[in-house]
Amino acid sequence: MTQDSRSSKFIPAFPAMLKGKCPRCRQGNMFKSFFSNTMYEECGHCGLTFERNPGYFYTAMYVTYVFNVAEIVTLGIATFVLSGGSDNPWLYVGIIIPGILLLAPLNYRYSRIIQMYWLDPTLKYRPDLSGNKNDQTPA
Ligand SMILES: [Zn+2]
Repeated sequence: MTQDSRSSKFIPAFPAMLKGKCPRCRQGNMFKSFFSNTMYEECGHCGLTFERNPGYFYTAMYVTYVFNVAEIVTLGIATFVLSGGSDNPWLYVGIIIPGILLLAPLNYRYSRIIQMYWLDPTLKYRPDLSGNKNDQTPA
């Protein structure tokens, strides 16, 4: 298998993750649109089933937890600095609660993406599946 065969092209991970592309081929979309968190059942490009077994995305809940802790700490520190060190707890509650609610759709989406890209050792990027579907010839 050669790196420069016509049927495969290397697609970097980070832009593919930002756009919610399939972790195996980095071509097909995981989500139906950018503004919807509805997932496709399988990749339209390589046919990977995204929910690989029942309860597969349970792990993403822990990633969401990490995101929420990071957001709460960041919003708390930002509120402290920007308010000049306010000690009014309602100011912090009034900033942090709407902040994490606004970020919840992004947490949902990117926790699933991080799970599939980084936390699933059985799922690897396959550049041979990235090329055009119609010219996949054995190299
Ligand atoms: Zn795919």
